[in-house]
Amino acid sequence: MPYKLTLVLTPKQAADVKYYTEQAARRAGVAEQDVALIRVVGRSIDARQRQPKVNLTLEVYADCEPQPAPVHFDYPSVAGRTEVVIVGSGPAGLFTALRLIERGYRPVILERGRDVSARKRDIARINRNGAVDPDSNYAFGEGGAGTFSDGKLFTRSKKRGDYNKALQTLVFHGATPEILYESHPHIGTDKLPRVISNIRRTILEAGGSFVFDARVTDVELHDDRVKGVWVGDTLYEGAAVVLATGHSARDIYELLHRRGVRLEAKPFAMGVRIEHPQALIDSIQYHCESRGEYLPAASYSLVSQEGGRGVYSFCMCPGGFIVPAMTDAAESVVNGMSPSGRNSVFANSGLVTEVRLADFEHLRAEWGELAGLKFQQQFERLARQQGGEHQIAPAQRVADFVAGCASGSLSRTSYIPGVVPSRLDKWMPGFIASSLRAG
Ligand SMILES: Cc1cc2nc3c(=O)[nH]c(=O)nc-3n(C[C@H](O)[C@H](O)[C@H](O)COP(=O)(O)OP(=O)(O)OC[C@H]3O[C@@H](n4cnc5c(N)ncnc54)[C@H](O)[C@@H]3O)c2cc1C
Repeated sequence: MPYKLTLVLTPKQAADVKYYTEQAARRAGVAEQDVALIRVVGRSIDARQRQPKVNLTLEVYADCEPQPAPVHFDYPSVAGRTEVVIVGSGPAGLFTALRLIERGYRPVILERGRDVSARKRDIARINRNGAVDPDSNYAFGEGGAGTFSDGKLFTRSKKRGDYNKALQTLVFHGATPEILYESHPHIGTDKLPRVISNIRRTILEAGGSFVFDARVTDVELHDDRVKGVWVGDTLYEGAAVVLATGHSARDIYELLHRRGVRLEAKPFAMGVRIEHPQALIDSIQYHCESRGEYLPAASYSLVSQEGGRGVYSFCMCPGGFIVPAMTDAAESVVNGMSPSGRNSVFANSGLVTEVRLADFEHLRAEWGELAGLKFQQQFERLARQQGGEHQIAPAQRVADFVAGCASGSLSRTSYIPGVVPSRLDKWMPGFIASSLRAG
């Protein structure tokens, strides 16, 4: 058994392998020359005190002890086996395919968008001139919204299976091993496309297949059971069909609604992105003028209850960018991400409030269970109308938003299409504006 210990170190000490190896060997009572391996199994930053500390949890393996095996998965060949159709190659679709291969089924993945490299060009176009291909953008295409996302992997929920195995699968496919022990694992948008391509290679090598530019337009139902799906005139049949089309595929929800599949509206959250200079967040969180070279760009998480409604930050991206994440040029949608180095001078975060069933009750008569989607779409369209050409987004300074006055000028932003001053508080749904303001 390895000796396990936690060292509380300064950020500089925690970056010095020689230093913490000596400390760990001494604490483990092992002579340094007999240490075969020091493995980091946990790292977190405690910035509550004036001097931030790093908690480093280590395992010390002496020469005589068996060492942990590197992360490895064997995927069996499934050529010629029973086929399962997966619609969508986002994280859900890809992990479903890997799981099916483990269980001996052949996945056939239908994806409306293009492969990762073709997709990069479509995304560059959105940033350059606002042209949005409805099948290839930040949400649609190989890897789904996951490919050009941020890659924060914070969930520790065990409800849907083993999150450690999910992290190991990502490492096996090229993510940095640090995600296995960081308290807030992050892959980075620059590294995700390669991970996605490697997962595709695994699936193809096992005998699975991908069809790109294949938007599913209908489902084939026999006696209330799904037999397959239609891509234009072509029917794809399988022993089962897995819909892994994600949050943005409104046309799929509409299709299911039309075909009488039972859907149920649920509450969700909506709001804005808020952006600051990263240096400001660093100085607040680390209690210093500048964070120096050993601390990562700082993050934050805010939660409050306003009039019984939750208001909270989410998807905080230290050292990141705000990106145009719409799937339709007539709508304005933004999201955030950061590269693995988190080295942009900006920090952004989603700042959202609860949207309850009662908030879109007025749309139910016309839209039934799709009322929430329509409510969201109306907001996104309104935002687009308030912005400018080429996906320029409407924006307001936070202090002006809170004070309820117009912004004469705006600060610099990471959002490449740019921003235009707008009274967000005047046109967004009133309960969202008032909750965000109070929060
Ligand atoms: C910029 C950005 C940053 C993000 N950062 C994070 C983060 O740090 N951490 C985190 O946990 N989450 C993050 N997310 C969210 C995360 O990416 C999504 O939760 C995740 O991708 C959802 O996975 P999914 O497979 O369910 O759906 P999606 O990723 O949406 O994939 C759905 C796939 O289905 C395809 N599809 C849709 N309709 C059809 C059809 N009719 N026919 C064929 N194919 C279809 C789409 O093209 C897409 O490839 C981020 C998202 C964005 C955009």
